[in-house]
Amino acid sequence: MPYKVIINSTQVKFSASHFLKEPFKCSRLHGHNYYVTVELSSELDENYFVVDFIELKKKVKSIIKPIDHCVLIPKLSQDLEIYEDKDSIEIITRTKKRYVFPKSDTMFLPLRATTSELLAKYIHGKVKEIYPNKHIKVILEESKSTMASYED
Ligand SMILES: [Zn+2]
Repeated sequence: MPYKVIINSTQVKFSASHFLKEPFKCSRLHGHNYYVTVELSSELDENYFVVDFIELKKKVKSIIKPIDHCVLIPKLSQDLEIYEDKDSIEIITRTKKRYVFPKSDTMFLPLRATTSELLAKYIHGKVKEIYPNKHIKVILEESKSTMASYED
């Protein structure tokens, strides 16, 4: 795949809070300003593009919009008990910490955990649904010095 287009992280970002598996420090509720870089590779199309930059940027922004400013909940976690009622989500951890969030502030993700690695894979999967024939790499920065990527 000789050609590649890159959507730079300076323009594609979202803020979210999460907590990871105990007993790590990150098991406490905290937040990040996440920055997303997406790379697409393929042969050129009939317009001599890998993909139209403007279209790609718009698509990636539409993928991250639903998770922006949300508490991210890993729906497939084996470490959390999750209870839902009409307006709220209650979560009990293995050490019996109990969180209750307004449903409107949460976003369930089909993940076992909301690590940067799995969030990168989640975003990658959504990009792949749109561009199934491209080689795709997603890099997710959770701080200036820490990032994770997934590619396929
Ligand atoms: Zn974190």
